[in-house]
Amino acid sequence: MMQLINNQYQIQGLNLIDVANQYETPVYVYDGDKIVNQYRKLSSAFGSTKVKIKYACKALTNINILKLLKNEGSGIDTVSIQEVWLAIKAGFDPKDILYTPNCVSIEEIAMAVELGVQINIDNISILEQFGNKYGNTVPVCIRINPHIMAGGNHQISTGHIDSKFGISYYQMRHLVRVVTLHNIDVVGLHMHTGSDILDAGVFIQGAELLYDAAKNFKNLRFLDFGSGFKVAYKLGDYTVNIAETGKAISESFNNFCKEYGRELELWFEPGKYIVSEAGFFVVKVNVIKQTTSTVFVGVDSGQNHLIRPMFYNAHHHIVNLSNPEGTERIYSVVGYICETDTFAWDRKLNEVREGDLLAFYNAGAYGYSMSSNYNSRFRPAEVLIYKGESHLIRKRETMEDLLKNQVEVDL
Ligand SMILES: *Cc1c(COP(=O)(O)O)cnc(C)c1O
Repeated sequence: MMQLINNQYQIQGLNLIDVANQYETPVYVYDGDKIVNQYRKLSSAFGSTKVKIKYACKALTNINILKLLKNEGSGIDTVSIQEVWLAIKAGFDPKDILYTPNCVSIEEIAMAVELGVQINIDNISILEQFGNKYGNTVPVCIRINPHIMAGGNHQISTGHIDSKFGISYYQMRHLVRVVTLHNIDVVGLHMHTGSDILDAGVFIQGAELLYDAAKNFKNLRFLDFGSGFKVAYKLGDYTVNIAETGKAISESFNNFCKEYGRELELWFEPGKYIVSEAGFFVVKVNVIKQTTSTVFVGVDSGQNHLIRPMFYNAHHHIVNLSNPEGTERIYSVVGYICETDTFAWDRKLNEVREGDLLAFYNAGAYGYSMSSNYNSRFRPAEVLIYKGESHLIRKRETMEDLLKNQVEVDL
């Protein structure tokens, strides 16, 4: 974790200012030890229940992070064939790769089948095509939508009635008919209700529906409860108590297994929980601009690099690395993109001066992976701090990257 020691914000003993100066800004910095710890904390929270963590890699796909988690014994959850390729490149065994796409073509699914990964299907039309093509020769997991309203906002909540995800719990009869008639080998059931779940209650609620659904399938090997473990965004934020939640879930799961008549595996696919708090996005202050109503801090980055505040109204805690003792003042922190581009409104920061370095917390998940080249800006560098050493794990882009796929024609 990042700690304020002797007036320095440090990660594993390294001063974040030195790291930022070495690799320049803007830069994503990840605490590898924190990532490993989160993985261990989660995978040990379920007692003797056989639990498998499939890291939802869309949160942060740098191949070094994937390798770090693979070495810990993690599996991986992918949502596109490209993520499957990345996972294989990182060394994951195809059997540890779960492929959970939404609205992709049967052709893409066939490519994943060829690679031997675990397929997760989330609509009846594709399931029928899958059954026609493979019969019972390829084991499949089915994504059920339990219609549980979870999560902080509509964009990250996937279980509600209007959601495009999963096969509705209310279509169970039809689902069973399709599975039976095509003789499909259903080995897993899955639900993912969305992000920012606070306690075991929501899980158990969804779990009961999944247990109920499971009685229709005799050949199950696992139940996958998705993700959504809440992490802290603000200082003192209430977060999921993983030990307590783990205990409650494994208790209910073990009871179900007895009833089902076989010991199943309990799967989770967290993204945020594993990497969010391990990431810091460091930027430099270009200008302080006082308008009639507001003091703006303009930094050398924008929503092209960290879109969560503009996209989801997400809160990222910010600290002034260069002036941790400065008098607190109120600022709005904005980016350099030519449209409304606000990272934080009315935020109390230690006095900010031009040239100061600021760090955004919770930048590990959906930070770099959602970045773009909008305004023809280069995407930032990524740095991993692991066992007390910093490593450049992605170079800052250059003009070459911007032009790489453009085709100049004679007109
Ligand atoms: C995005 C996603 C996750 C990860 O969600 P987090 O909130 O980052 O933990 C897990 N499963 C599926 C299917 C997803 O699409």
